[in-house]
Amino acid sequence: MSKVITPMEQDYSQWYNDLVLRSGLADYSAVRGCMVIKPYGYRLWENMRDVLDKMFKDTGHVNAYFPLFVPKSLFEAEEKNAEGFAKECAVVTHYRLKNDPANPGKLMVDPEARLEEELVVRPTSEAIIWNTYKGWIQSYRDLPILVNQWANVVRWEMRTRLFLRTAEFLWQEGHTAHATEQEAREEAAKMLEVYADFVENYMALPVVKGVKSESERFAGAVDTLCIEALMQDGKALQAGTSHFLGQNFAKAFDVKFSDSNNKLEYVWATSWGVSTRLIGALVMAHSDNQGLVLPPKIAPLQVVIVPIYKGDEQLAAITDTLKPIISQLKDLGISVKYDDSEHARPGWKFAEYELQGVPVRMAIGARDLANGVAEIARRDTKEKMTVNLDGIAFYIKTLLDEIQLHLFEKAKNFRAEHTTEANSWDEFVSILDGKGGFVSAHWDGTAETEEKIKDLAKATIRCIPLDAKEEAGTCILTGKPSNKRVLFARAY
Ligand code: AMP
Repeated sequence: MSKVITPMEQDYSQWYNDLVLRSGLADYSAVRGCMVIKPYGYRLWENMRDVLDKMFKDTGHVNAYFPLFVPKSLFEAEEKNAEGFAKECAVVTHYRLKNDPANPGKLMVDPEARLEEELVVRPTSEAIIWNTYKGWIQSYRDLPILVNQWANVVRWEMRTRLFLRTAEFLWQEGHTAHATEQEAREEAAKMLEVYADFVENYMALPVVKGVKSESERFAGAVDTLCIEALMQDGKALQAGTSHFLGQNFAKAFDVKFSDSNNKLEYVWATSWGVSTRLIGALVMAHSDNQGLVLPPKIAPLQVVIVPIYKGDEQLAAITDTLKPIISQLKDLGISVKYDDSEHARPGWKFAEYELQGVPVRMAIGARDLANGVAEIARRDTKEKMTVNLDGIAFYIKTLLDEIQLHLFEKAKNFRAEHTTEANSWDEFVSILDGKGGFVSAHWDGTAETEEKIKDLAKATIRCIPLDAKEEAGTCILTGKPSNKRVLFARAY
Protein backbone atom coordinates (compact mmCIF):
# COMPACT_ATOMS: atom_id res chain seq x y z
CA MET A 1 0.00 0.00 0.00
CA SER A 2 1.27 3.45 -0.82
CA LYS A 3 2.28 5.36 2.28
CA VAL A 4 1.41 8.69 0.72
CA ILE A 5 -1.33 10.55 2.55
CA THR A 6 -3.51 13.00 0.66
CA PRO A 7 -2.94 16.44 2.23
CA MET A 8 -5.93 17.51 4.32
CA GLU A 9 -6.07 20.91 2.57
CA GLN A 10 -6.60 19.09 -0.72
CA ASP A 11 -9.26 16.61 0.36
CA TYR A 12 -10.03 16.29 4.05
CA SER A 13 -12.13 13.20 3.69
CA GLN A 14 -9.50 11.37 1.63
CA TRP A 15 -6.83 12.51 4.09
CA TYR A 16 -8.83 10.88 6.88
CA ASN A 17 -9.30 7.60 5.04
CA ASP A 18 -5.65 7.46 3.96
CA LEU A 19 -4.56 8.10 7.50
CA VAL A 20 -6.77 5.49 9.13
CA LEU A 21 -5.73 2.84 6.62
CA ARG A 22 -2.03 3.65 6.39
CA SER A 23 -1.36 4.14 10.07
CA GLY A 24 -2.72 0.64 10.62
CA LEU A 25 -5.79 1.56 12.66
CA ALA A 26 -8.32 -0.21 10.46
CA ASP A 27 -9.04 -1.86 7.17
CA TYR A 28 -12.06 -2.25 4.95
CA SER A 29 -13.76 -5.64 5.11
CA ALA A 30 -15.78 -7.90 2.86
CA VAL A 31 -18.95 -6.68 4.55
CA ARG A 32 -20.50 -3.44 3.38
CA GLY A 33 -20.15 -0.75 6.01
CA CYS A 34 -18.23 -2.97 8.43
CA MET A 35 -14.54 -2.52 9.11
CA VAL A 36 -11.68 -4.51 10.52
CA ILE A 37 -10.08 -2.86 13.52
CA LYS A 38 -6.39 -3.71 13.20
CA PRO A 39 -4.12 -4.40 16.18
CA TYR A 40 -2.87 -0.79 16.44
CA GLY A 41 -6.41 0.57 16.34
CA TYR A 42 -7.58 -2.05 18.78
CA ARG A 43 -4.84 -1.14 21.25
CA LEU A 44 -6.06 2.41 21.09
CA TRP A 45 -9.61 1.22 21.75
CA GLU A 46 -8.41 -0.95 24.63
CA ASN A 47 -6.69 2.05 26.20
CA MET A 48 -9.84 4.13 25.88
CA ARG A 49 -11.97 1.28 27.14
CA ASP A 50 -9.74 0.69 30.17
CA VAL A 51 -9.89 4.32 31.28
CA LEU A 52 -13.65 4.56 30.75
CA ASP A 53 -14.27 1.22 32.44
CA LYS A 54 -12.43 2.43 35.53
CA MET A 55 -14.41 5.67 35.50
CA PHE A 56 -17.68 3.71 35.32
CA LYS A 57 -16.62 1.46 38.19
CA ASP A 58 -15.48 4.45 40.24
CA THR A 59 -18.99 5.87 39.86
CA GLY A 60 -20.58 2.66 41.14
CA HIS A 61 -21.35 0.76 37.94
CA VAL A 62 -20.84 -2.92 37.22
CA ASN A 63 -20.50 -4.76 33.91
CA ALA A 64 -22.85 -7.43 32.57
CA TYR A 65 -23.63 -8.94 29.20
CA PHE A 66 -26.94 -9.36 27.37
CA PRO A 67 -27.76 -11.24 24.15
CA LEU A 68 -26.95 -9.93 20.69
CA PHE A 69 -30.47 -10.81 19.48
CA VAL A 70 -33.73 -9.20 20.47
CA PRO A 71 -36.98 -11.05 19.73
CA LYS A 72 -39.05 -8.81 17.47
CA SER A 73 -41.98 -8.68 19.90
CA LEU A 74 -39.70 -7.28 22.61
CA PHE A 75 -38.10 -4.88 20.21
CA GLU A 76 -41.54 -3.50 19.31
CA ALA A 77 -42.61 -2.95 22.91
CA GLU A 78 -41.33 0.61 23.29
CA GLU A 79 -42.93 2.06 20.18
CA LYS A 80 -40.89 5.18 19.72
CA ASN A 81 -37.62 3.35 20.18
CA ALA A 82 -38.72 0.65 17.72
CA GLU A 83 -39.91 3.16 15.17
CA GLY A 84 -36.72 5.18 15.44
CA PHE A 85 -34.43 2.24 14.84
CA ALA A 86 -36.62 0.15 12.50
CA LYS A 87 -34.99 1.40 9.31
CA GLU A 88 -31.54 0.38 10.51
CA CYS A 89 -32.28 -3.12 11.78
CA ALA A 90 -30.66 -6.30 10.55
CA VAL A 91 -33.05 -9.19 11.17
CA VAL A 92 -32.42 -12.91 11.53
CA THR A 93 -35.17 -14.96 9.93
CA HIS A 94 -33.61 -18.43 9.59
CA TYR A 95 -31.31 -20.59 11.64
CA ARG A 96 -29.98 -23.03 9.02
CA LEU A 97 -28.47 -23.31 5.56
CA LYS A 98 -28.57 -26.38 3.35
CA ASN A 99 -27.05 -27.55 0.08
CA ASP A 100 -28.71 -25.88 -2.87
CA PRO A 101 -29.86 -28.69 -5.25
CA ALA A 102 -29.95 -26.27 -8.20
CA ASN A 103 -26.39 -24.98 -7.56
CA PRO A 104 -23.91 -27.68 -6.62
CA GLY A 105 -21.34 -26.46 -4.14
CA LYS A 106 -23.59 -23.59 -3.02
CA LEU A 107 -25.68 -23.20 0.09
CA MET A 108 -29.17 -21.81 0.45
CA VAL A 109 -31.36 -20.76 3.34
CA ASP A 110 -33.35 -23.76 4.46
CA PRO A 111 -36.97 -22.68 4.10
CA GLU A 112 -37.92 -25.23 6.74
CA ALA A 113 -35.66 -23.54 9.25
CA ARG A 114 -37.61 -20.33 9.52
CA LEU A 115 -37.58 -18.90 13.02
CA GLU A 116 -40.97 -18.78 14.67
CA GLU A 117 -40.15 -15.29 15.79
CA GLU A 118 -37.69 -13.10 13.95
CA LEU A 119 -34.69 -11.82 15.88
CA VAL A 120 -33.49 -8.26 15.58
CA VAL A 121 -29.73 -7.83 15.83
CA ARG A 122 -29.48 -5.22 18.60
CA PRO A 123 -29.05 -1.65 17.36
CA THR A 124 -29.17 -0.74 21.08
CA SER A 125 -30.16 -2.92 24.02
CA GLU A 126 -32.88 -1.15 26.00
CA ALA A 127 -35.52 -3.71 24.96
CA ILE A 128 -33.70 -6.88 25.93
CA ILE A 129 -32.35 -5.27 29.09
CA TRP A 130 -35.64 -3.85 30.35
CA ASN A 131 -37.31 -7.16 29.66
CA THR A 132 -34.66 -8.68 31.94
CA TYR A 133 -34.94 -5.95 34.60
CA LYS A 134 -38.59 -6.84 35.01
CA GLY A 135 -37.42 -10.02 36.72
CA TRP A 136 -34.79 -8.21 38.80
CA ILE A 137 -36.89 -5.44 40.27
CA GLN A 138 -39.66 -5.86 42.81
CA SER A 139 -39.07 -3.35 45.55
CA TYR A 140 -37.18 -0.13 46.16
CA ARG A 141 -34.47 -2.29 47.76
CA ASP A 142 -33.61 -3.65 44.31
CA LEU A 143 -32.80 -0.16 43.08
CA PRO A 144 -30.77 1.43 41.71
CA ILE A 145 -29.42 -0.94 39.08
CA LEU A 146 -26.22 0.52 37.63
CA VAL A 147 -25.19 -1.79 34.81
CA ASN A 148 -22.91 -1.24 31.86
CA GLN A 149 -22.20 -3.56 28.96
CA TRP A 150 -19.28 -3.55 26.52
CA ALA A 151 -20.63 -4.90 23.27
CA ASN A 152 -21.05 -4.63 19.55
CA VAL A 153 -24.23 -3.32 17.96
CA VAL A 154 -25.49 -3.19 14.40
CA ARG A 155 -27.17 -0.22 12.74
CA TRP A 156 -27.60 -0.65 9.00
CA GLU A 157 -26.34 2.81 8.12
CA MET A 158 -26.66 3.81 4.47
CA ARG A 159 -23.64 6.11 4.40
CA THR A 160 -20.72 4.77 6.34
CA ARG A 161 -17.27 6.05 7.17
CA LEU A 162 -14.39 4.30 8.94
CA PHE A 163 -14.89 4.53 12.73
CA LEU A 164 -17.25 7.53 12.54
CA ARG A 165 -20.23 5.65 11.23
CA THR A 166 -20.11 1.92 10.64
CA ALA A 167 -22.84 -0.68 10.33
CA GLU A 168 -21.38 -2.70 13.18
CA PHE A 169 -19.56 -0.85 15.92
CA LEU A 170 -18.12 -1.45 19.34
CA TRP A 171 -19.40 0.56 22.23
CA GLN A 172 -20.43 0.55 25.83
CA GLU A 173 -24.00 1.08 26.84
CA GLY A 174 -24.96 1.90 30.40
CA HIS A 175 -28.51 1.02 31.44
CA THR A 176 -29.61 2.17 34.84
CA ALA A 177 -32.84 1.84 36.79
CA HIS A 178 -33.90 4.21 39.57
CA ALA A 179 -36.64 4.79 42.10
CA THR A 180 -37.07 8.48 41.39
CA GLU A 181 -37.06 10.84 38.47
CA GLN A 182 -34.52 13.07 40.17
CA GLU A 183 -32.09 10.22 40.72
CA ALA A 184 -32.35 9.14 37.08
CA ARG A 185 -31.85 12.70 35.85
CA GLU A 186 -28.82 13.04 38.10
CA GLU A 187 -27.40 9.81 36.75
CA ALA A 188 -27.77 10.95 33.13
CA ALA A 189 -26.07 14.25 33.98
CA LYS A 190 -23.32 12.50 35.94
CA MET A 191 -22.46 10.20 33.04
CA LEU A 192 -22.32 13.12 30.65
CA GLU A 193 -19.72 14.63 32.99
CA VAL A 194 -17.77 11.36 32.96
CA TYR A 195 -17.75 11.42 29.15
CA ALA A 196 -16.70 15.07 29.04
CA ASP A 197 -13.94 14.40 31.56
CA PHE A 198 -12.68 11.47 29.49
CA VAL A 199 -12.80 13.19 26.12
CA GLU A 200 -11.20 16.39 27.41
CA ASN A 201 -8.60 15.02 29.78
CA TYR A 202 -7.57 11.84 28.00
CA MET A 203 -8.39 12.52 24.35
CA ALA A 204 -7.38 16.20 24.69
CA LEU A 205 -10.53 17.21 22.86
CA PRO A 206 -12.71 20.02 24.20
CA VAL A 207 -16.44 19.35 24.12
CA VAL A 208 -19.63 21.34 24.40
CA LYS A 209 -22.13 19.76 26.78
CA GLY A 210 -25.72 20.22 25.84
CA VAL A 211 -29.22 18.90 25.30
CA LYS A 212 -30.45 17.67 21.93
CA SER A 213 -33.45 19.26 20.29
CA GLU A 214 -36.53 17.04 20.07
CA SER A 215 -35.85 15.88 16.53
CA GLU A 216 -32.26 14.85 17.32
CA ARG A 217 -33.27 13.04 20.49
CA PHE A 218 -32.64 9.32 20.99
CA ALA A 219 -35.74 7.36 20.02
CA GLY A 220 -37.56 6.55 23.25
CA ALA A 221 -35.80 9.14 25.41
CA VAL A 222 -37.36 12.05 27.27
CA ASP A 223 -34.11 14.02 27.08
CA THR A 224 -30.84 13.36 25.29
CA LEU A 225 -27.72 14.98 26.70
CA CYS A 226 -24.67 15.02 24.49
CA ILE A 227 -21.11 16.13 24.10
CA GLU A 228 -20.19 17.72 20.78
CA ALA A 229 -16.67 18.14 19.45
CA LEU A 230 -15.21 20.06 16.52
CA MET A 231 -13.03 18.47 13.86
CA GLN A 232 -10.24 20.25 11.96
CA ASP A 233 -12.40 20.74 8.87
CA GLY A 234 -14.87 22.75 10.92
CA LYS A 235 -17.49 20.00 11.11
CA ALA A 236 -18.98 18.87 14.39
CA LEU A 237 -19.12 15.33 15.70
CA GLN A 238 -21.39 13.90 18.37
CA ALA A 239 -18.91 12.26 20.69
CA GLY A 240 -21.21 10.76 23.31
CA THR A 241 -24.79 10.69 24.52
CA SER A 242 -26.55 10.20 27.84
CA HIS A 243 -30.29 9.72 27.83
CA PHE A 244 -32.91 10.31 30.48
CA LEU A 245 -35.52 7.73 29.45
CA GLY A 246 -38.20 8.67 31.95
CA GLN A 247 -40.55 5.74 32.60
CA ASN A 248 -40.94 4.90 28.91
CA PHE A 249 -39.19 1.53 29.02
CA ALA A 250 -40.58 0.63 32.44
CA LYS A 251 -44.09 1.18 31.05
CA ALA A 252 -43.36 -0.74 27.85
CA PHE A 253 -42.01 -3.72 29.81
CA ASP A 254 -44.20 -3.32 32.87
CA VAL A 255 -41.35 -2.84 35.30
CA LYS A 256 -42.76 -1.63 38.62
CA PHE A 257 -41.37 -1.50 42.12
CA SER A 258 -43.06 -1.09 45.48
CA ASP A 259 -41.78 1.99 47.27
CA SER A 260 -41.24 2.25 51.02
CA ASN A 261 -44.99 2.86 51.48
CA ASN A 262 -45.79 -0.27 49.48
CA LYS A 263 -47.10 1.80 46.62
CA LEU A 264 -46.42 0.44 43.12
CA GLU A 265 -44.49 2.79 40.82
CA TYR A 266 -42.89 2.52 37.42
CA VAL A 267 -39.08 2.54 37.45
CA TRP A 268 -37.08 5.47 36.04
CA ALA A 269 -34.32 4.84 33.51
CA THR A 270 -31.21 6.15 31.82
CA SER A 271 -28.94 4.86 29.10
CA TRP A 272 -25.63 6.25 27.88
CA GLY A 273 -23.04 5.28 25.31
CA VAL A 274 -19.81 6.06 23.53
CA SER A 275 -18.47 4.05 20.63
CA THR A 276 -15.45 3.38 18.43
CA ARG A 277 -16.49 6.65 16.78
CA LEU A 278 -14.25 8.26 19.40
CA ILE A 279 -11.23 6.88 17.54
CA GLY A 280 -12.39 8.74 14.44
CA ALA A 281 -12.79 11.88 16.53
CA LEU A 282 -9.26 11.53 17.82
CA VAL A 283 -7.83 11.16 14.32
CA MET A 284 -9.83 14.04 12.87
CA ALA A 285 -9.12 16.43 15.72
CA HIS A 286 -5.35 16.21 16.19
CA SER A 287 -3.63 14.56 13.25
CA ASP A 288 -1.70 16.19 10.40
CA ASN A 289 -0.42 15.42 6.90
CA GLN A 290 2.45 13.31 8.23
CA GLY A 291 0.16 11.01 10.15
CA LEU A 292 -1.58 10.51 13.45
CA VAL A 293 -0.99 12.79 16.40
CA LEU A 294 -2.07 10.94 19.54
CA PRO A 295 -2.49 12.32 23.04
CA PRO A 296 0.10 10.61 25.29
CA LYS A 297 -2.50 9.50 27.85
CA ILE A 298 -4.10 7.05 25.43
CA ALA A 299 -1.42 6.49 22.79
CA PRO A 300 -0.68 2.76 22.41
CA LEU A 301 3.01 3.62 22.50
CA GLN A 302 4.29 6.80 24.16
CA VAL A 303 8.00 6.76 23.41
CA VAL A 304 10.08 5.15 20.69
CA ILE A 305 13.84 5.03 20.84
CA VAL A 306 15.79 4.66 17.60
CA PRO A 307 19.54 3.97 17.76
CA ILE A 308 21.65 5.27 14.88
CA TYR A 309 24.72 3.16 14.49
CA LYS A 310 27.31 1.58 12.24
CA GLY A 311 28.21 -1.95 13.21
CA ASP A 312 27.49 -4.15 16.19
CA GLU A 313 29.96 -2.47 18.48
CA GLN A 314 28.30 0.93 18.28
CA LEU A 315 24.88 -0.64 18.72
CA ALA A 316 26.06 -2.55 21.79
CA ALA A 317 27.45 0.64 23.36
CA ILE A 318 24.21 2.53 22.71
CA THR A 319 22.08 -0.34 23.98
CA ASP A 320 24.11 -0.61 27.19
CA THR A 321 23.68 3.07 27.92
CA LEU A 322 19.97 2.97 27.13
CA LYS A 323 19.06 -0.09 29.19
CA PRO A 324 18.80 1.73 32.55
CA ILE A 325 16.98 4.65 30.87
CA ILE A 326 14.42 2.28 29.36
CA SER A 327 13.77 0.64 32.71
CA GLN A 328 13.48 4.03 34.35
CA LEU A 329 10.89 5.05 31.75
CA LYS A 330 8.96 1.85 32.39
CA ASP A 331 9.14 2.46 36.14
CA LEU A 332 7.58 5.85 35.51
CA GLY A 333 4.66 4.05 33.84
CA ILE A 334 5.67 5.12 30.33
CA SER A 335 5.27 2.71 27.42
CA VAL A 336 8.48 2.57 25.43
CA LYS A 337 9.79 0.65 22.45
CA TYR A 338 13.46 0.30 21.61
CA ASP A 339 13.58 -0.19 17.86
CA ASP A 340 17.01 -1.58 17.03
CA SER A 341 15.67 -3.68 14.16
CA GLU A 342 18.02 -3.85 11.21
CA HIS A 343 15.42 -4.16 8.50
CA ALA A 344 14.90 -0.42 8.15
CA ARG A 345 16.99 2.73 8.11
CA PRO A 346 16.46 5.34 10.85
CA GLY A 347 14.83 7.78 8.42
CA TRP A 348 12.25 5.19 7.45
CA LYS A 349 11.58 4.39 11.09
CA PHE A 350 11.14 8.08 11.89
CA ALA A 351 8.51 8.43 9.18
CA GLU A 352 6.74 5.27 10.30
CA TYR A 353 6.47 6.35 13.95
CA GLU A 354 5.39 9.78 12.84
CA LEU A 355 2.64 8.12 10.81
CA GLN A 356 1.61 6.16 13.91
CA GLY A 357 1.54 9.26 16.04
CA VAL A 358 3.98 8.14 18.73
CA PRO A 359 4.18 11.28 20.92
CA VAL A 360 7.93 11.25 21.65
CA ARG A 361 10.86 9.94 19.64
CA MET A 362 14.34 9.66 21.00
CA ALA A 363 17.24 9.14 18.60
CA ILE A 364 20.76 8.46 19.69
CA GLY A 365 23.95 7.98 17.65
CA ALA A 366 27.59 7.31 18.47
CA ARG A 367 28.47 11.00 18.71
CA ASP A 368 25.48 11.71 20.97
CA LEU A 369 26.64 8.88 23.17
CA ALA A 370 30.11 10.40 23.43
CA ASN A 371 28.52 13.73 24.41
CA GLY A 372 26.09 12.13 26.86
CA VAL A 373 23.02 13.44 25.00
CA ALA A 374 20.13 12.24 22.82
CA GLU A 375 17.84 13.94 20.33
CA ILE A 376 14.25 14.18 21.45
CA ALA A 377 11.54 14.95 18.89
CA ARG A 378 7.94 15.67 19.85
CA ARG A 379 5.30 14.52 17.41
CA ASP A 380 2.81 17.33 18.01
CA THR A 381 5.02 20.35 17.19
CA LYS A 382 7.83 18.41 15.42
CA GLU A 383 10.31 20.32 17.60
CA LYS A 384 13.66 18.64 18.21
CA MET A 385 15.76 19.12 21.31
CA THR A 386 19.16 17.88 22.40
CA VAL A 387 18.76 16.55 25.90
CA ASN A 388 21.25 15.34 28.49
CA LEU A 389 21.02 11.60 29.13
CA ASP A 390 21.22 12.37 32.84
CA GLY A 391 17.64 12.69 33.99
CA ILE A 392 16.26 12.15 30.48
CA ALA A 393 13.49 9.82 31.72
CA PHE A 394 12.06 12.60 33.90
CA TYR A 395 12.46 15.05 31.07
CA ILE A 396 10.37 12.74 28.87
CA LYS A 397 7.73 12.29 31.54
CA THR A 398 7.31 16.06 31.83
CA LEU A 399 7.33 16.40 28.08
CA LEU A 400 4.50 13.85 27.71
CA ASP A 401 2.37 15.90 30.12
CA GLU A 402 3.21 19.03 28.20
CA ILE A 403 2.21 17.42 24.89
CA GLN A 404 -1.08 16.27 26.38
CA LEU A 405 -1.79 19.81 27.56
CA HIS A 406 -0.62 21.41 24.34
CA LEU A 407 -2.94 19.23 22.23
CA PHE A 408 -5.89 20.22 24.39
CA GLU A 409 -5.00 23.92 24.29
CA LYS A 410 -4.52 23.80 20.53
CA ALA A 411 -7.88 22.13 20.00
CA LYS A 412 -9.49 24.61 22.39
CA ASN A 413 -8.05 27.57 20.50
CA PHE A 414 -9.20 26.05 17.23
CA ARG A 415 -12.69 25.69 18.62
CA ALA A 416 -12.68 29.25 19.95
CA GLU A 417 -11.66 30.52 16.50
CA HIS A 418 -14.40 28.40 14.96
CA THR A 419 -17.29 29.32 17.21
CA THR A 420 -19.13 32.33 15.88
CA GLU A 421 -22.33 34.16 16.68
CA ALA A 422 -24.65 34.79 13.76
CA ASN A 423 -27.46 37.32 13.93
CA SER A 424 -28.93 37.09 10.46
CA TRP A 425 -29.57 34.39 7.91
CA ASP A 426 -26.93 35.73 5.50
CA GLU A 427 -24.35 35.82 8.23
CA PHE A 428 -25.32 32.29 9.28
CA VAL A 429 -24.85 30.86 5.79
CA SER A 430 -21.67 32.77 5.05
CA ILE A 431 -20.02 31.45 8.23
CA LEU A 432 -21.04 27.89 7.40
CA ASP A 433 -19.81 28.24 3.81
CA GLY A 434 -16.64 29.96 4.98
CA LYS A 435 -14.69 28.82 8.00
CA GLY A 436 -17.41 26.51 9.29
CA GLY A 437 -17.40 25.43 12.90
CA PHE A 438 -20.06 26.03 15.52
CA VAL A 439 -22.49 28.83 14.84
CA SER A 440 -24.32 30.18 17.84
CA ALA A 441 -27.68 31.54 16.78
CA HIS A 442 -31.26 32.10 17.83
CA TRP A 443 -33.91 29.57 16.81
CA ASP A 444 -37.65 29.79 17.31
CA GLY A 445 -37.79 26.38 18.98
CA THR A 446 -39.93 24.61 16.37
CA ALA A 447 -39.09 21.39 14.57
CA GLU A 448 -40.32 22.90 11.27
CA THR A 449 -37.77 25.69 11.40
CA GLU A 450 -35.06 23.26 12.42
CA GLU A 451 -35.90 21.09 9.41
CA LYS A 452 -35.95 24.06 7.04
CA ILE A 453 -32.55 25.22 8.28
CA LYS A 454 -31.23 21.72 7.73
CA ASP A 455 -32.55 21.71 4.16
CA LEU A 456 -31.34 25.19 3.31
CA ALA A 457 -27.98 25.33 5.06
CA LYS A 458 -27.17 21.63 5.65
CA ALA A 459 -26.60 22.51 9.28
CA THR A 460 -28.19 20.84 12.28
CA ILE A 461 -28.70 21.90 15.85
CA ARG A 462 -25.83 20.15 17.60
CA CYS A 463 -27.17 21.02 21.01
CA ILE A 464 -28.66 23.58 23.30
CA PRO A 465 -25.58 24.17 25.45
CA LEU A 466 -26.09 23.47 29.16
CA ASP A 467 -24.51 26.84 29.91
CA ALA A 468 -26.58 28.79 27.35
CA LYS A 469 -27.57 32.14 28.84
CA GLU A 470 -31.01 33.66 28.66
CA GLU A 471 -30.87 36.27 25.92
CA ALA A 472 -33.73 37.83 24.03
CA GLY A 473 -33.33 37.55 20.28
CA THR A 474 -35.01 36.55 17.05
CA CYS A 475 -34.78 33.33 15.08
CA ILE A 476 -32.25 33.63 12.22
CA LEU A 477 -34.70 32.07 9.79
CA THR A 478 -38.19 33.13 10.84
CA GLY A 479 -37.50 36.23 12.92
CA LYS A 480 -39.75 34.86 15.67
CA PRO A 481 -38.73 35.50 19.26
CA SER A 482 -36.20 33.27 21.00
CA ASN A 483 -34.76 33.37 24.51
CA LYS A 484 -31.44 31.64 24.04
CA ARG A 485 -28.88 30.77 21.40
CA VAL A 486 -28.36 27.19 20.26
CA LEU A 487 -25.33 25.68 18.56
CA PHE A 488 -25.58 24.84 14.88
CA ALA A 489 -22.97 23.14 12.69
CA ARG A 490 -22.51 20.96 9.68
CA ALA A 491 -21.78 17.61 11.20
CA TYR A 492 -20.58 14.08 10.62
P1 AMP B 1 -27.03 6.58 20.54
O1 AMP B 1 -27.37 5.25 21.09
O2 AMP B 1 -27.63 6.82 19.20
O3 AMP B 1 -27.22 7.70 21.48
O4 AMP B 1 -25.45 6.53 20.25
C1 AMP B 1 -24.54 6.23 21.25
C2 AMP B 1 -23.13 6.55 20.80
O5 AMP B 1 -22.78 5.79 19.66
C3 AMP B 1 -23.00 8.00 20.41
O6 AMP B 1 -21.84 8.48 21.02
C4 AMP B 1 -22.86 7.99 18.92
O7 AMP B 1 -22.00 9.01 18.53
C5 AMP B 1 -22.31 6.62 18.62
N1 AMP B 1 -22.81 6.08 17.33
C6 AMP B 1 -24.08 6.12 16.86
N2 AMP B 1 -24.17 5.53 15.65
C7 AMP B 1 -22.92 5.09 15.33
C8 AMP B 1 -22.34 4.40 14.21
N3 AMP B 1 -23.09 4.02 13.17
N4 AMP B 1 -21.02 4.12 14.24
C9 AMP B 1 -20.27 4.50 15.30
N5 AMP B 1 -20.74 5.14 16.38
C10 AMP B 1 -22.05 5.44 16.41
